[in-house]
Amino acid sequence: MAEIDANGAAAPGFDPDVLRGKYRQERDKRLRSDGNEQYIEARGHFAGYTEDPYVTPGFTREPVDREVEVAIVGGGFSGMLAAVRLRERGVTDIVILEKGGDFGGTWYWNRYPGAQCDIDAYCYLPLLEETGYIPKEKYSYAEEIYAHSKRIGETYDLYSIALFQTGVDALRWEESSRSWRLETSRGDRIKARFVIMAQGPVGNGKLPGIPGIETFKGHSFHTSRWDYDYTGGNAKGNLHRLADKRVAVIGTGATAIQCIPYVGKHAKQLYVFQRTPSSVDERGNTPTDPDWAAALQTGWQRERRENFNDIVVGNPFTVDLVADRWTDIFNRLMVSGFGKTLSGPEALQQMEWVDFEKMNEIRGRVDSIVADPATAEALKPWYRQFCKRPTFNDEYLPTFNLPNVTLVDVSISKGVERITENGLVANGKLYEVDCIIYATGFEISTSLKRRLAIDVTGSNDISIHDHWAQRVKTLHGFTTTGFPNWFFMGVSQNGLSVNMTSMFDEQAQHIAYLIDEAGKRQVTRLEPTPEAQAQWDSFIRGMGQTNRDFAESCTPGYYNGEGRRPAVPQLEPFAGSINKFHALLADWREQGDMAGLNLE
Ligand code: NDP
Repeated sequence: MAEIDANGAAAPGFDPDVLRGKYRQERDKRLRSDGNEQYIEARGHFAGYTEDPYVTPGFTREPVDREVEVAIVGGGFSGMLAAVRLRERGVTDIVILEKGGDFGGTWYWNRYPGAQCDIDAYCYLPLLEETGYIPKEKYSYAEEIYAHSKRIGETYDLYSIALFQTGVDALRWEESSRSWRLETSRGDRIKARFVIMAQGPVGNGKLPGIPGIETFKGHSFHTSRWDYDYTGGNAKGNLHRLADKRVAVIGTGATAIQCIPYVGKHAKQLYVFQRTPSSVDERGNTPTDPDWAAALQTGWQRERRENFNDIVVGNPFTVDLVADRWTDIFNRLMVSGFGKTLSGPEALQQMEWVDFEKMNEIRGRVDSIVADPATAEALKPWYRQFCKRPTFNDEYLPTFNLPNVTLVDVSISKGVERITENGLVANGKLYEVDCIIYATGFEISTSLKRRLAIDVTGSNDISIHDHWAQRVKTLHGFTTTGFPNWFFMGVSQNGLSVNMTSMFDEQAQHIAYLIDEAGKRQVTRLEPTPEAQAQWDSFIRGMGQTNRDFAESCTPGYYNGEGRRPAVPQLEPFAGSINKFHALLADWREQGDMAGLNLE
């Protein structure tokens, strides 16, 4: 047992070496040589898992034949924000192409019971001040967020420029007209001067490549296409048709921990197949205090978002406006002197120490809630807090005290072993079920081809999939050589925040600036210079080293490319504070010379 902590204080009640050893052992147990390839795409034979359950089948429309200034691929928050920020600058000739039947993106698709955003709603929901809307609770449920995306669509008249139920299949740059030609699932002929890719990180669900998956004869679906016809009820619960059903949920990530309490409450029998437990912290949702809302001053949302962004990257702060379990760990670090008095290796050591304490509490929480000791033991996460996305829920752990709910630990076999016609095999035992629910996540860190699912051909016939085959290379994360007038909204080489919408809003504002400036300067072709791109690329690589070391020590998951070694985080974001990144972009715009871009 250690006798002093990193500050020379009294014994902490844990041995860091023992914990480090346990973390490594648990990681090694789960490492798979097939990494990302263990997952199969929800296409071809599995295309049924991605069908849109929310639209009336049989929709048709005449193909569109038109030229526009800007085409936006995706009508989730990122695409909507891009359109809003362009319109604010007077760029109005826009089309938004969206696969779903309405705006909302991830909140259009994910309507599973209990779906909720675990980020403070006053930070997460975009354009709150602009639309005059105040969320009902500190953490909004999916229904409210989806309604808000429709509110934005109506407030900014985005419905008039949207083509729904329209997937973009291919984009091809045409040098002669200096524009992009778009091919869509509806046979449209659209030519656009500029294209903005706004597909979001969780657009395409993925399935585990478990042997025999195609042989199952019961019912099955992915959480992002919840089948209420089968389960009954709605996002608020009452899944009454499960009363006589044996159900398996595969996966225990952020989605699973939200829907499992509802399935557990209604199913005759629920088996939860868990490979790696989530860290499940308290939720403590509260209704919005009307007095607080009434007292908000202009600019409050930006201030709150910046404060949250600062805190969750470990920047020094004086006030914690959000004050929740996301910010909790950083509050502790501040108390310990992190960032103020400690830096370099000392700060990293301190961070690890506080992390041990925090994760011990998370594990203690399991013991205090889950009655069966063996089940409680299996539900304990043995890794550092940010190895996997932390989760927050007050109903998940108590679900394992229900007599009809069984946790099946599949960590030893690195996942469910096999699926048969009538069930799942784990640890040598067959679990017969009527329904399998795949809570197995999204194409977040799989190959670009799978994530993008669009053929993009730039100048000189280069495919983006060849151009970025090794890794994404850009200027500031937005533009890349050989793909003129093409803008990317995402995290690679760009700023990263767990509050995705604040990140997307800044990206939208930067892209709107670039397109507006191109118009003002009568520029018809814009792409980064090879030198500027190379410079940004090496800057990003340089700052990612600490993250790579950390990623390598973690249990596999999409955060670390499924534990790939050497860890080259496929997404490679700007590793510093997102507020600093935004300031860097603001300075760049302020300079006014569009440095690093080739303008013709
Ligand atoms: P995840 O990728 O986080 O989780 C997938 C789950 O499936 C993991 O538990 C994984 O285990 C498990 N799994 C995969 N293959 C197998 C297998 N062969 N056998 C057994 N288990 C398997 O997906 P989620 O949908 O939960 O979350 C994805 C992301 O979506 C989140 O991280 C977050 O960014 C976003 N999200 C955000 C929410 C919010 O509140 N803002 C809510 C929900 C989702 P293992 O961990 O071992 O790989």
